[in-house]
This record gives sequence, structure tokens and C-alpha cells, in this order.
Amino acid sequence: MKSNRGFVIGRMQPVHKGHIEVIKKTLEEVEEIVIGIGSAQLSHTLKNPFTAGERIMMITKALADNEIDADKYYIIPMEDIQMNAIWVAHVKMMTPPFLKVFSGNYLVQELFKEEGFEVTTPPLFNREELSGTEIRNRILNNEDWSNLVPKATFNIINEINGAERLKNLSKKELSELK
Ligand code: NAD
Repeated sequence: MKSNRGFVIGRMQPVHKGHIEVIKKTLEEVEEIVIGIGSAQLSHTLKNPFTAGERIMMITKALADNEIDADKYYIIPMEDIQMNAIWVAHVKMMTPPFLKVFSGNYLVQELFKEEGFEVTTPPLFNREELSGTEIRNRILNNEDWSNLVPKATFNIINEINGAERLKNLSKKELSELK
């Protein structure tokens, strides 16, 4: 029976408290959740600074800290493909079976609806602050971002010198504009 399994996907650059809230809320509606780490092939750019492996660590530890049992979810890195029209088939090939999709991303919603999936838009939690863009900007500008992410994300970004990485990437991308 695959009906009681849901799918969420996010770039999670980095994993923030909004992602954790969506996962918790989704687990109120389904028994198990398939969590796609989107754009898994991307890292070391200003928009996508963290590797799939680093994002897997962030989400795994954050879910454990939130006392979500490991048998409730599957974390699957998902590389992008060039062809949106067959992306859902690509996702299905890589994931445990599911029928329900939970996403606020309009393209994700559209592609899954066209393939007959039930798509739900989860509520947004403090979207002004709980966004990857806001967090990456704060890191770059030496502003406080610690309260926007789970402790696990904060610790992992420190462990990998993530703030320094972002600042170096910013120098690189600025120099390429010249
Ligand atoms: P994201 O990290 O911005 O968001 C992930 C999910 O969390 C979304 O559903 C979003 O609505 C939700 N969310 C984010 N902040 C929230 C908050 N504060 N409160 C509540 N919910 C919040 O990631 P995304 O951009 O939606 O990820 C989609 C992924 O799917 C990307 O990696 C994209 O490349 C991939 N994709 C690939 C293809 C392809 O390869 N052809 C096609 C479609 C999508």
C-alpha cells in the first residue's frame, strides 16, 4: 500500500526551520514521508553553497533533534534533469512509492498534478525570515541567522566553515562579473 506515503522536495540551501515545520505538518497527514534533496548535483555557488551530503546531514540530525523516528522518512538526493516533462518519472524511479505531494513550489505542483498526483500546498511559516535566500544573505553580511535554522544546521555550517565558503564564493562570483 503506497497511499499513506507523502513526498516533499526542497533545495534546502540550507535546511531551515520552515522545512522542519513542513515535514512535521506533513507527518500529521501521512504515515511516511519521502524527502527529496533537490538539485543534488549543485554545490559551491552562492545560490547553492552546500553539497547534497551536507544537506543530508543537516536534515537527518535536525529530524532526530525533533524526535522524528528514522523509520518515518526516506531522504533521497535528487539531481535535476533538463526535461521538466519527464521529471516526475525521474523522481518516481528514484524514490519509494507515494501518492501525495506537499510543495509550495508552483513548478513542482504543476508537474505532479499533470501526472495525477494529489498535491497539497503546506502553510508558510514566517516566510520573510525562513527562506534560504534570507539565511544566505545574513551569513554573507555577518548578521544573526542562528535562530532561523535548526541547531543541527548551525553546527554543520560551522563544522564545514560554511560562512567562509559563502564569502569566498561571493568574491569569486563578483570577480567573474568584472
Ligand atoms: P525550497 O528549499 O525553496 O523549498 C522546499 C519546500 O519547503 C517547498 O515546498 C517550500 O514551499 C517549502 N518551504 C520553504 N520555506 C518555507 C517556509 N518558511 N514555510 C513553509 N514552507 C516552506 O526548494 P524548492 O525550490 O521548492 O525545491 C524544488 C526542487 O525541485 C529544486 O531542487 C528544483 O530544481 C527541483 N525540480 C527539478 C526539476 C527538474 O529537474 N526538471 C523540475 C522541478 C523541480
